[in-house]
Amino acid sequence: MHHCFLIRNADVVLTMDDDRREIKGGDILIRDGVIEAVGQGLYDDDAQILDGRGCLVTPGLVNTHHHLYQTLTRAVPGAQDALLFGWLKTLYPIWAKFGPEHMRISALVGLAELALSGCSTTSDHLYLYPNGARLDDTIEAARAIGLRLHATRGSMSIGESLGGLPPDSLVEREEDILNDCIRVIDAFHDPNPGAMIRVGVAPCSPFSVSRELMRDSAILARDKGVMMHTHLAENDEDIAYSLEKFGMRPGQYAEELGWTGPDVWHAHCVMLDREEISLFARTKTGVAHCPCSNCRLGSGIAPVRPMRDAGVRVGLGVDGSASNDTGNLIMEARTGMLLQRVYYGADKMSPREMLEIATRGGAEVLGRDDIGILAPGKRADIAVWDMSDVEAAGSWDPAALLLAGPMIVKDLFVEGHHVVADSWVTTIDMGGTLARQKALALGLRD
Ligand SMILES: [Zn+2]
Repeated sequence: MHHCFLIRNADVVLTMDDDRREIKGGDILIRDGVIEAVGQGLYDDDAQILDGRGCLVTPGLVNTHHHLYQTLTRAVPGAQDALLFGWLKTLYPIWAKFGPEHMRISALVGLAELALSGCSTTSDHLYLYPNGARLDDTIEAARAIGLRLHATRGSMSIGESLGGLPPDSLVEREEDILNDCIRVIDAFHDPNPGAMIRVGVAPCSPFSVSRELMRDSAILARDKGVMMHTHLAENDEDIAYSLEKFGMRPGQYAEELGWTGPDVWHAHCVMLDREEISLFARTKTGVAHCPCSNCRLGSGIAPVRPMRDAGVRVGLGVDGSASNDTGNLIMEARTGMLLQRVYYGADKMSPREMLEIATRGGAEVLGRDDIGILAPGKRADIAVWDMSDVEAAGSWDPAALLLAGPMIVKDLFVEGHHVVADSWVTTIDMGGTLARQKALALGLRD
């Protein structure tokens, strides 16, 4: 097994470093999972050579919001055209049939899809644990495929009988939730640079857990030094619920319960108003922008332009495979760029800026300075895009990948490991995984 690679002579290396350097005819030398050098004319006797001619090289993409377990429930007929709350109510009874194997296989497929779209690091938000399912199942899948995972221990505690949205069978006791958060943090969380697994604490949303659990989760996360994540201000229904039940907007609710700060990131934030945007900027609170899911559920267009202008940290997320229903991160970036243009104008979101959000931006949202940038000393998470094939042929500017470029990566390195080679996932038995997924999905239909 090679621990040393030299990517040589790439058409362009888009570094995303502090000077946003773009190196024509660029090389990258990788050793033991770390980038040793970035430049031109590099040489190493021991390295396995990867010919970069005709290719664009970028940092591996970072996905800041997903529900990997949903890969088994894409395009479910009853949920195809529903709004958020109706969509959830259609899918809850199906998810209630899941067990550990559904979680693991579903995650494997979702992770493979991410890897093929150039993503080297993903977060995951798992908030239901039926039939013995555990966060461990998703972590096992990430270890098998070799992607970096920020697994968040989600939760729901307010069932239908208490006026919540989920069925009572899918909610847990708050004491059990907090105890399992402690268990998975102690078992899996790695705070060190280069960590392949980090764990976060993530009540599903303000409308599926109590005030107390929101507050206690924040206290627990800070005591353990891990990050916090939830859904916030996703659509009009969400705002109306917050005003009616809590008598305040979501941003204020978050602030009151300790859910702002550099160790917090919220998914969606489509409906943040001007004051909430400045609250997030002031407190360094992060946002996972999920444009395809927001389109799919008709939620709206998140104010990414004003957020970025105000200094809010923004990353990109594919969201769950049931509300997208694909999980292709480079496609997500293209959609995100286009949507900001719909709302703010063609000169308000360049392909380079959205690619920055999808790489360096996501890394910042997840609290990492060791990935998202191609520079010596950073971890070797690298995506290589073939710009010589049909989708990019005729492009004058490879770095404008989101305007003209492939939607599948050619090669992907994660911690220096060659996870995707020639657009093929090398680390798992993909055929066997897909066959198993098909069988499990069929079993859910009765
Ligand atoms: Zn979500």
